[in-house]
Amino acid sequence: MDLLLSTWKEIEAYLGHSKAIIVPLGSVEQHGPSGRIGTDVICPQAIAEGIAAGADALVGPAIAFGVCPFNLAFPGTISTRAATFMALIEDYVRSLARQGFERFYFLNGHGGNIAPVQAACQDLHAARSFNPQAKADRMRLRVRNWWEYPTVSRMRRELYGEWEGMHATPSEIAITQALHPDQTQGPRMSPPQRVSKEFLHAHAGDNHGSAEEHRRRFPDGRVGSDPSLANPEDGRRLLAAAVADGISDYRAFLVEP
Ligand SMILES: [Zn+2]
Repeated sequence: MDLLLSTWKEIEAYLGHSKAIIVPLGSVEQHGPSGRIGTDVICPQAIAEGIAAGADALVGPAIAFGVCPFNLAFPGTISTRAATFMALIEDYVRSLARQGFERFYFLNGHGGNIAPVQAACQDLHAARSFNPQAKADRMRLRVRNWWEYPTVSRMRRELYGEWEGMHATPSEIAITQALHPDQTQGPRMSPPQRVSKEFLHAHAGDNHGSAEEHRRRFPDGRVGSDPSLANPEDGRRLLAAAVADGISDYRAFLVEP
């Protein structure tokens, strides 16, 4: 079930049997020479739809914009500030919470969103605990990065090893190829650029610096990945694995005390 395609009567009826909603979080940013700019919203949106179909759940509108200031030197990238992104998350939750929604399952597609969505969740919990009228004890917020689902994580390692890299990864590109088969492989790419374990550690959660420096360092937008390994068949398998992992995780979330 999709909130944007529903009537308010249907949402009211849904609230009669579930207080949970899945919210895809994305980013509008360059994804290397062959990747679509919408990759980070296309992936969690499709996975969320699969989870909703399998677990009789509701998918809310994706928050397509994410926090990616480090990619602003690449044409087409649109970043929110972290504070804007946090405010969007908080307004989204507050709006639906007053109508009775209690469980928010954020399915994230972008590393730079991890810290701000977690901070927004902390703020929401804190705000509610100051209000004795609020049903603070019933509010549950879960954040999941689709690429960290256990089966997906294993497949990414098996399929691409270290060439999965950090950004414009073959796994995310493969999923977009499965969903949009008209996507070309893009231009021939130079050999991918290996990044060190230290770099991965220091830049976890897309903790990159200035946009100009980022583009100088990674001129075609890939960060340690080889997206030329991506293919639609891998994408179908990764998508199916993410949906299966997501359904069990979402079901566990529903009964989390
Ligand atoms: Zn991405």
